[in-house]
Amino acid sequence: MSKVCQGPCNREARAVWAVFLREREAHADAVDRWLAEGGEGEPPREPVMPVVEWRPGESLHCGRCRATARRALLVVDELAAALAARPGVVKAQSKWSRVRGTRPHGSMSGEADVVHTVTGELLRLRRDVGERLELADQVPAGRSGVVRSRSVTWLVDKLDAVLGLEQLTVVSAVRDPDDPVELGVVEWALAWESKLRRLVDDEPGHTVARCPGCEMRSLEWRQRAGYYVCENCGRHVSEADAMDLVSEEAGA
Ligand SMILES: [Zn+2]
Ligand SMILES: [Zn+2]
Repeated sequence: MSKVCQGPCNREARAVWAVFLREREAHADAVDRWLAEGGEGEPPREPVMPVVEWRPGESLHCGRCRATARRALLVVDELAAALAARPGVVKAQSKWSRVRGTRPHGSMSGEADVVHTVTGELLRLRRDVGERLELADQVPAGRSGVVRSRSVTWLVDKLDAVLGLEQLTVVSAVRDPDDPVELGVVEWALAWESKLRRLVDDEPGHTVARCPGCEMRSLEWRQRAGYYVCENCGRHVSEADAMDLVSEEAGA
């Protein structure tokens, strides 16, 4: 098999395959137990190997996942700018800075914190990429909006090379500020996109994707769940998967 795409388009295949590997291990244990007990009767039945369709990666990521990452990165920059420009964020800062001596530690609003975090992660990724690709790049100091935007442009510009780097991950606080996790670059960009969209109330609306469970075009966005839920069969579909389904049907 040629190399498969490392991106989210193979998420489902990876999940199915992981289940099979667990079943196979459980089967081996069951056979051991069966033998230890004398091996009488039928041996435990072997798990059936699933038919898994892997999308090949062109180097490491397929064209669709590269396009997903490019789009998500640009949207992240735009949304972070929108969030930073919110009156609440500016007010929170100027209010405290005007009254000298009263500014408590960590008084930045939650939104400013989020912008700070995503910018920090972008800069760290930029530095890692610069090192891995041996590019002469001076990562700018500070985490201003200009620095963030230029870093996104820098990454998007080199995205094909970036997504061709083996085992390039980002340690990210996108899901839980107190519990950073390691994410692949495409998943990381998508996770930030959906988090920021939630914060600026720009959540996904209607999708024309067909439900993978019942094939009906009846997926409705449920804000609380952060998923599309099929009105017909109740199946949950993530926003990224819904976008994947649409491009798949369009023959991307
Ligand atoms: Zn892919
Ligand atoms: Zn359905």
